[in-house]
Amino acid sequence: MNVLDSLRTDVVEAGAEALLVTSPANVRYLSGFTSPEDGRVLLTQDAAWLLTDGRYTVQAAEESKLEVDITNTYQKTWQERLIELSNGARLAIEADHLSVASFRQLEEKLGYSPVATDRLLQPYRLIKSSAEVELLREAAEITDRAFEHILGFVRPGITEIEVALELERFMVTTGADAKAFGIIVASGPRGAMPHGLASQRPLALGEFITLDFGAVVGGYHADMTRTVALGEVSSELMAVYDAVLEAQEAALAALGPGESGRAIDQLARDILDRYQLASYFSHSLGHGVGLEIHERPSLSQRVDDRLETGMSVTIEPGVYLPGKGGVRIEDLAVITESGYERLSSSPKGYLQI
Ligand code: ZN
Ligand code: ZN
Repeated sequence: MNVLDSLRTDVVEAGAEALLVTSPANVRYLSGFTSPEDGRVLLTQDAAWLLTDGRYTVQAAEESKLEVDITNTYQKTWQERLIELSNGARLAIEADHLSVASFRQLEEKLGYSPVATDRLLQPYRLIKSSAEVELLREAAEITDRAFEHILGFVRPGITEIEVALELERFMVTTGADAKAFGIIVASGPRGAMPHGLASQRPLALGEFITLDFGAVVGGYHADMTRTVALGEVSSELMAVYDAVLEAQEAALAALGPGESGRAIDQLARDILDRYQLASYFSHSLGHGVGLEIHERPSLSQRVDDRLETGMSVTIEPGVYLPGKGGVRIEDLAVITESGYERLSSSPKGYLQI
């Protein structure tokens, strides 16, 4: 059964007959439309449409795998067109995305409350097809090449922002659609901020620089972190690097179908604990990646997601010492029948430049 047919069954099980998909990543997943913020998908028991407006007539026709319906927004709202197309079918919506205001508008026009569904598309998006893995692989390859390039660019005196812009310039001029998220360049004491976006701070000798970035290809996000030393750093920070690398490699090696995300997160914490560093590892070990930068599964203590063949995940332990700096090492991998394939292939041994 294909995804649409399987989803139709899920919609019926949820107590409805048609599903309005508004979450951009889900709209893109089902339709292939690359401006999904301005589109929505209506799935009924015997049809599926991409609904958008006259700005996208040409683009939607070129890109959409589904029948395209262009709403003439001078005459009617998309909600009115949606109700016409659904032709009396009982409607469900994505509760984790549709705003309360939109829900109320629909409720008023329909004369009943649409059925609120909870992440109906998640089970499909969790498992990447070989075509999706190929896009992740291409995104990871551009990310690797950007890392190699930036090693020749980084020097004392240039600012974190200059490094971030050079990474972005390199990626988008060598095949990426865009950068995957705001590039993190955190040098020296700023390395203690796990999400330290690049600032005007100049790089200095004797410090670590943490670079966390990725390319997007065909809508699929790569995500990689490397920490490199600019000149010689303190022996305390060098020891932190070794501990984080040991935790990262052990966690990566533990990936495989049937494994528990929570247990792998714990494994990394246990290794850092041997070096009295576990209390400085202040986030979860990893996350799924795909059409969104943060997806399920989660490798964390909060939930226990089981890994399955076809899931794409990051492994990214980090240690953040306030006032001193930090180290994070992150790879992107896909779970395979025999274990995992590492999509990030940049070297991660201690590197001093
Ligand atoms: Zn990252
Ligand atoms: Zn990440």
